[in-house]
Amino acid sequence: MVHPERNGAELTELVRLIWAARQVGALTGAGISVASGIADFRSSGGLWSVFSPEEYATLEVFERNPAKSWKLFRCMGRELLGKEPNPAHLALVELERMGLLHGIVTQNIDTLHQQAGSSYVFEIHGEFAHVHCPACGLLRDLEAGDWLEDGPVPLCAQCGSPLKPNVVLFGESVRMLEEIWTFIAHCDLLLVIGTSAQVYPAAALPDRVWRNGGWVIECNREQALRDGSVRDRHFFVPGDVARTLPLLVDACRSHRRF
Ligand SMILES: [Zn+2]
Repeated sequence: MVHPERNGAELTELVRLIWAARQVGALTGAGISVASGIADFRSSGGLWSVFSPEEYATLEVFERNPAKSWKLFRCMGRELLGKEPNPAHLALVELERMGLLHGIVTQNIDTLHQQAGSSYVFEIHGEFAHVHCPACGLLRDLEAGDWLEDGPVPLCAQCGSPLKPNVVLFGESVRMLEEIWTFIAHCDLLLVIGTSAQVYPAAALPDRVWRNGGWVIECNREQALRDGSVRDRHFFVPGDVARTLPLLVDACRSHRRF
């Protein structure tokens, strides 16, 4: 366990690993956006406790009753839109600028990594900045009228079918898997940030890096990845990532001599 506010030998070791890695990836989840005011959908009182995913968020429900799914989408929009990146997102941008981060795989749909300025982001669950027509493939910006009022379901200007936010619903395939596997296959260090990495494909990424002979640095409130055998190449940085990540990046900057 590494406490970045204490400048101990373990922090030095962790920073040395980051500087020594050939390719560094980050896997991020809901925990990185909490400090931006976006509650984890899975937390108690979160979106999934109000709208059961099986009842509102499957492809099958959207196709049968799009108006019902749009009740959820409008709530999701109120939760996500207008939010801004926090110091954890900005710390990852800084790490990229220092040449110490080469791509981010995110489970989040809030586009805060791109808003912060990160260049290479794989959004496995899609994003909430566009709407998409499942029938003809049209993709356009999400407009205020799509979600602000309890109006009709937005329809495709090309074919008239109901549109949906450009997010992966339950029952749909996750996005960019092939690109993500190619990227992760070359990573010898993975930062796991604000996610328990319990759901596929996120759950498989740390194992892939361990099998590469690489290291995993987990930054979260609670440790979710377990140590043991190959997993000895694992550091856990406890605490709020909006506080710990900037400290970690500061430590990387001041140990540039590695
Ligand atoms: Zn269409």
